[in-house]
Order: sequence, then C-alpha cells, then structure tokens
Amino acid sequence: MKLESARAQLAEWGRQMSREGLCPGTSGNLSVYDPAEGCMAVTPSGVSCGAVTPEDIVVMDLDGRVLEGERKPSSEWALHAILCRRHPAARAVVHTHSVYCTTLAVLGLPIRPVHYAAAAAGVREVPCAPYRLFGTRELAEQAAETCGDGRAVLLGNHGPVVWGEDLPGACALARDLEFVARLQWQAMAVGTPSVLTEEEMDRAMVRFRTYGQGK
Ligand code: 13P
Ligand code: ZN
Repeated sequence: MKLESARAQLAEWGRQMSREGLCPGTSGNLSVYDPAEGCMAVTPSGVSCGAVTPEDIVVMDLDGRVLEGERKPSSEWALHAILCRRHPAARAVVHTHSVYCTTLAVLGLPIRPVHYAAAAAGVREVPCAPYRLFGTRELAEQAAETCGDGRAVLLGNHGPVVWGEDLPGACALARDLEFVARLQWQAMAVGTPSVLTEEEMDRAMVRFRTYGQGK
C-alpha cells in the first residue's frame, strides 16, 4: 500500500481532532503530502474524522488523479493540493470546523494577535478569506491567495485551514488557533481585547523557530 505510515498517522490524528471536538459531524479533512512520491494521502469524503481507518485513506496526485483507494477523496482535496503547491515546506494540511475559529469566520474577522500563541501561524494575524462554496476550485484558490505566506487562513463562513511541516505540527497549529480564537471571542464578548504589537508578534515568531525539543 502507498504511503502506509501517512495512512496510519491520518487515522490517528483524525481520531484526535475529532475527540477534541475540532471536527464536528463529518466536517474537516486532513492530508499528508509526500513530494518524493509526488502524491498526497487524504481523508475520505463524508466520513467522520474520528472513524477514518488507514484503509479509508485515498492517495492522489496534486492534480486530483486517484492513485490508490476505494473511497471518494475529501471534497476539499484541491484546497489541500494548492496549499502544498504554494508552500514548499508544507507536508500536511488540516481543515476543521472548530467552533471558535468558525465563529470569527462567520463574522468575517481575522484571528488577531490577542495571545502570542497565534504567532505559530507565522503571520501577525490570520486573515479571513471571502466565502466560496465548499469543495470547489474557487474556494481553494481564494484560500491560497488570502493565506499569502502564512500557515493558516479562515475560510469565510466556513472554518479554518492550516498547513504544517508534518501532521502533528499542523494539528497542533489548528488546536492553538482554536484556543486563540476562543480567547478573542470571549474577550470581545465582554470588552475590547488588547492586541500585541507587530513588533511583539515578530519577536514571538522568531522565538517559535527554536521552541520545543527540536527535531
Ligand atoms: P469532506 O467530508 O468531503 O472532507 O468535507 C468536509 C468539509 O469540511 C467540507 O468543507
Ligand atoms: Zn469544511
């Protein structure tokens, strides 16, 4: 089977994202990209992220040709493919409908730097793209354009999408941004959140480069 370890990782992290409540119902999708093989492994369409098995995973190229798998790939495969194409360091993409990020996306608001954790996205604030129909090339293109050089973008009236250098990293970013979006929303509910300066966010981004145990 192609991309065997990616299949296992996707099933494991799908369960985790689902357990944490980030992918309600059958929402959300995850992928791992292997540039050496020229293909990505992506979760199937219409299956709860928490119920995906390694055998359910679909292997396809970035043009949408299915190379292996019995299932229909995620309807958002083009979103995953375009982010992998545009960001040479991307090896995983995670899209969720996590409630607080999606709340901001419904308001058409970016995730603001109300907490330094937002700097993990590699930008001073995470932009919100205009609404486009789910599962379309228009949505993928709009998302990639609005994302710019960052690692995350909110899809207007839909939900967040992030990319990472590996799947655990992308899932951690999706989780961290949900935390920051929740803080922003809660703070907005009772007052005006104070936001970090551009200079502080730049310093936090630099700090994140050497944060943790390294590889
Ligand atoms: P899929 O089940 O096709 O992956 O779609 C879920 C989703 O979140 C669409 O945006
Ligand atoms: Zn979605």
